[in-house]
Amino acid sequence: MALVVKKFGGTSVGDIDKIKNVARKVSKAKDKGDDLIVVVSAMSGETNKLVDYTNKTAEIPDLREYDVVVSTGEQVTIGLLSIALNAMGHKAKSFLGFQIPIITDSSFSKSRIIKIEQDKIKKALKEGYIVVVAGFQGIDEKGNITTLGRGGSDTTAVALAAALKADVCEIYTDVDGVYTTDPNIVPEARRLDKISFEEMLEMASLGAKVLQTRSVEFAMKYKVPVMVKSTFTESGGTLVTEDKDMEEAVVSGIAYDKNEAKITLVQIPDKPGIASKLFKPLTDANINVDMIVQNISTEGNTDLTFTVAKSDFKRAMEIIKDIAKDINAKNVVSDQSIAKISIIGAGMRSHAGVAQQMFSALAKENINIQMISTSEIKISCVIEAKYTELAVRVLHEAFGLDKAK
Ligand code: ASP
Ligand code: MG
Repeated sequence: MALVVKKFGGTSVGDIDKIKNVARKVSKAKDKGDDLIVVVSAMSGETNKLVDYTNKTAEIPDLREYDVVVSTGEQVTIGLLSIALNAMGHKAKSFLGFQIPIITDSSFSKSRIIKIEQDKIKKALKEGYIVVVAGFQGIDEKGNITTLGRGGSDTTAVALAAALKADVCEIYTDVDGVYTTDPNIVPEARRLDKISFEEMLEMASLGAKVLQTRSVEFAMKYKVPVMVKSTFTESGGTLVTEDKDMEEAVVSGIAYDKNEAKITLVQIPDKPGIASKLFKPLTDANINVDMIVQNISTEGNTDLTFTVAKSDFKRAMEIIKDIAKDINAKNVVSDQSIAKISIIGAGMRSHAGVAQQMFSALAKENINIQMISTSEIKISCVIEAKYTELAVRVLHEAFGLDKAK
């Protein structure tokens, strides 16, 4: 008998018929004799609607209360799924994050899981229940409701699998696995049978939406094998795993992210302490800065450009405008029409010239590169948002990802 964590995303529980469909799938697995923990997201579109409500109520919503609102979508789906399972003759019981509890830190809207209490889940499993857990939410040590960032149900699932030492964590979604790139943009994109934690981590953090980045961090840290599958077909699937023997493709995938915005401080003093002065208040406000580029200094001044998530953009601009005055910056300019295009591959470590290949593919299409950043296994370029699809297509072709391996 295995312990399996199954997670169903918003599109899999988007209406009552779909919830009943999930219940049938869960029922089949339970009949095989496995112990099951089922994590669900809110119905598709529901969390967006809740986020919208908060944004319409205030320009910059209070984040503690934001979490109170946006965590409610999952309460509906865990209840409904449990009702469906009970009606089928199973024993099912739902749990909200605070009931377990799933303890997180207090960074509202993007909290991190610190600890998961296991007693209640273990007891329910022992009594034969299918345990149905609300994704995306927890409670901090002071008793405040928290959420784990958009897409956070994946992290709930993997964290539960890690804590309870599940045999596998299955993530059910509307696609049948992880692809070389978004098949909506490149129809020739191929499904990968397997991908390493490391590559998946880059893919997720660079914009591939199949798995939340933090869920992959968890999976990698605790070595939880994750199977990404479709709720709607039996075939396919991608196993995310630690596999040293995997053949390392030079480039395994292309990711893109249109959810960042760029902020530039024009003509700031080029002297010690300035960067720290700029970024400390952002860190204090829990705003993650992604790419940073500083120009060469002319007459003691320099320009500094960085990117943040669009959802943090307004707060970041407020903070930066204040500091800009403080340090005598000439101007602050911003651009929300950017996209980050990335190529990812563990094989890059041992291959030279990959960056050049990327730059020349973009140059051929006359796509200007605004920022570049690299790591051992990825290269990212910021470009104008309107070229996103074109860039993804040319890179997919340039690295031969459409060809069957
Ligand atoms: N419902 C949440 C969201 O849309 C969490 C999730 O779906 O994973 O972000
Ligand atoms: Mg998701």
